[in-house]
Amino acid sequence: MTIELPPLAGHPSARPPSPLVPACQLSVVVPVFNEEAVIALFHARLIKVLTACPGVHEIIYVDDGSSDGSAQVLDALRATCPQVGVARLSRNFGKERAMTAGLELARGAAVIILDVDLQDPPELIPPMLDAWRAGADVVNMRRSGRDGETAFKKVTAHLFYRIINRLSDVPIPSDVGDFRLFSRRAVDALNRMPESNRFMKGLFAWIGFSQVTLDYQRKARAAGHSKWPYWRLWNFALEGVTSFSTVPLRVASYVGFLSALGAFVYAFYFFIKTLVWGESVKGFPTLIEIVLLLGGLQLMAIGIVGEYVGRMYLESKRRPIYLLDFFKPATLSAPDAT
Ligand code: UDP
Ligand code: MG
Repeated sequence: MTIELPPLAGHPSARPPSPLVPACQLSVVVPVFNEEAVIALFHARLIKVLTACPGVHEIIYVDDGSSDGSAQVLDALRATCPQVGVARLSRNFGKERAMTAGLELARGAAVIILDVDLQDPPELIPPMLDAWRAGADVVNMRRSGRDGETAFKKVTAHLFYRIINRLSDVPIPSDVGDFRLFSRRAVDALNRMPESNRFMKGLFAWIGFSQVTLDYQRKARAAGHSKWPYWRLWNFALEGVTSFSTVPLRVASYVGFLSALGAFVYAFYFFIKTLVWGESVKGFPTLIEIVLLLGGLQLMAIGIVGEYVGRMYLESKRRPIYLLDFFKPATLSAPDAT
């Protein structure tokens, strides 16, 4: 006899499937966190581009718990522009989860994720749509250059993509950020991913389908400042590696094995040496060196295991990925309003 378990409240499996018939042609998902200085500027440029594209479009601003005037600016936009939908998360959940929320709320046949700071020019939307119409499920936008970013950020970003690609089982395209287009079935696939460690660049690559890559020059921020201090970027990189690769776990065991082997060989050498030449009570520094080395290696291995155990712990709680304060959909593209 099988017992039917009720769906877990709040767990992704409890979410209704996305609508089969897309309600509009294109949804633009825009995560916003404390961006009052730039929203109006961004919106004006985006609307200009969208009006030139045929079809019905919606723009979903996901307010990721902003504490400045962003909420008011978005409300004002929605009051004047019927294409605007606004979702507000119950607190700041971070860009990855804000994007997850936007992808789940989007109703378009295609969905584009766009930063609000104008680093990803909205003018590139038409070529992205062309690639989608030509059959691509995912259009990746690769930064061929980055204006207005520090040399340190450029170098670390470059290294990050190289390392993650070495370690990850699925190839993650280099220098492609979150600025991408997804077809409806790609979005549906993303929405089925239940994990709460949302390393979106990995998830985007994992879904597969036909992916094409277009190049663009990444612009400097139009206003405001970056919400990614280096510490946050470091944590993000760690999250990426641990959620898409178990290689570090293996490295830990190899390093442990090699050092143990080294210690064994060294002990053997000492044994022979003492037998042949004898030994006074010298060698104290060597001893301390070995103790320290082995202790360090063990701590390192435990640390790596700990990273994974910690993530399993967080995952096992099966908390919802984000909580919505409210969602006010766009009125223009609602199924019964067109
Ligand atoms: N963002 C967000 N939640 C956060 C941090 C950032 O929704 O916790 C949004 C932000 O408003 C912007 C985008 O994510 O639209 C990219 O952020 P930012 O420009 O600060 O990152 P960078 O371009 O410096 O990597
Ligand atoms: Mg930015």
